[in-house]
Amino acid sequence: MYKKAGFLLLFLITFGAALSAQTVTFEEYDPPSTLKVPENPLTRAKFPFIDIHSHQWRMGERDLNKLASEMDGINMGLMVNLSGGSGKNIVDAIKNIKTNQPKRFIVFANVNFSNIGDDGWGERAAAQLQRDYDQGARGLKIFKSLGFSVKDKDGNRVAVDDSRIDPVWAKCGELGIPVLIHTADPKPFWDEHDANNERWLELKLRPRRKRDANNPVPWETLIQEQHNVFKKHKNTIFIAAHMAWFANDLVKLGSLLDEMPNMMVEIGAVIAELGRQPRFAKKFLEKYQDRVLFGKDAYNPGEYATYFRVLETEDEYFPYYKRYHAFWKMYGLGLSDNVLKKIYYKNALRIVPDIDSSIFPE
Ligand SMILES: [Zn+2]
Repeated sequence: MYKKAGFLLLFLITFGAALSAQTVTFEEYDPPSTLKVPENPLTRAKFPFIDIHSHQWRMGERDLNKLASEMDGINMGLMVNLSGGSGKNIVDAIKNIKTNQPKRFIVFANVNFSNIGDDGWGERAAAQLQRDYDQGARGLKIFKSLGFSVKDKDGNRVAVDDSRIDPVWAKCGELGIPVLIHTADPKPFWDEHDANNERWLELKLRPRRKRDANNPVPWETLIQEQHNVFKKHKNTIFIAAHMAWFANDLVKLGSLLDEMPNMMVEIGAVIAELGRQPRFAKKFLEKYQDRVLFGKDAYNPGEYATYFRVLETEDEYFPYYKRYHAFWKMYGLGLSDNVLKKIYYKNALRIVPDIDSSIFPE
């Protein structure tokens, strides 16, 4: 009797375990790799690098000495803070930098798009940018709100290539400062949220990122608007954030760089795209070694390690830190010192004025 019950219990436990093994979800299925290969994890970049895409709010109040010593830990030579704002925020940030860490930080200004549509808005915005430059700003950052949520005074969407902004783009060319511009988002955010969507997990975890196909316009429209600006303002250098959202199509990105000599790109938040195509990405970065900058976007010191490892090592099948960006593994590109130096700092030194180059190797 007891024996029978024991068998029954054993059967139920086994059957239950088998059942639960069959219902592992995609999110749960993340097994540790059994692969044994040489591993060369990095905590510091091989050369001091410039992070062209960082955000520090209210920089005038930040402890820059503390921040700089944290940057030392990963060999970040210089941080470009894209969230400089304008007016007093710029003045305060520059004062703090000059007093405490003059060699380690650069600030980009931002444009205030409210009241666009008022007579003379463009000229006033350009004049404000001139004042911000005079105070020490050395670039302009355009947030992705342009093209998405920025509305003119009549309530209409302001396209990225709206001619009312032309005086601002022209001013940057005149001042010799670059524009780092983030337009749109990864294309899968506009696509069906189904099993064929590579960002399925991200859209599940961050459902507000999902857009209808025409919200506010198709992805292709936003991207085209951005390129129209680049083509119209040839004297201005534009850095398309996140590799212009073409890191997964480097043939296309190469043709865009060929077509628009004033276009640069940075690799923030798209290293996982390079890390899944190490041979082709290496060829691309060798060919376009003068056009690509190191950027990260979110300043989380622990996450830079993956960037260094992808760019510098030839490691195989190692994890990325955010599974909703990449459910696949990374492979190192093993870039040469020459190419690394360009991506890490030489290209930034060339296009961003007035960086103290003394901490960067020849
Ligand atoms: Zn950003």
